[in-house]
Amino acid sequence: MAYDENNIFAKILRGEAPCIKIYEDDHTLSFMDIMPQAEGHTLVIPKEPAENILDLSPEMAGHLIKSTQKVAKAVKAATNADGVLVAQLNGSAAGQTVFHIHFHIIPRNEGLDLKFHARDMADMGELEALADRIRAEL
Ligand code: 5GP
Repeated sequence: MAYDENNIFAKILRGEAPCIKIYEDDHTLSFMDIMPQAEGHTLVIPKEPAENILDLSPEMAGHLIKSTQKVAKAVKAATNADGVLVAQLNGSAAGQTVFHIHFHIIPRNEGLDLKFHARDMADMGELEALADRIRAEL
């Protein structure tokens, strides 16, 4: 399948759709997931039009994992989570719903189940407050 320039993350990268930004550098952008599976659920995307990990250039894969590690540390510190799930889905059969490659960073706590994937919208005020805390740990 050809990369769709109108997917929501491409629009966010072009500034045509909003996001609650956590981190940005020359190669990557990180922002809050608006339908979080846990408090602090954050996404990291490359500034390259790749649908999934199979299409991504090896060079950008390096940039993407570096930013993911950096943001994951900040998310864990800000949420005081017991653990952090780093996940990445490729293809609708694997559960992918937005076809611009991204890593999920999801805080995990003992005994606390994840919420449904991409279902319930978060309160934007709460997401902004969480983003402040995460940015402070970068
Ligand atoms: P996927 O299913 O492709 O692995 O994950 C896509 C993620 O993007 C989901 O967790 C979903 O909640 C999130 N998402 C979908 N639309 C938007 C949006 O417009 N803004 C943000 N920040 N996240 C989104």
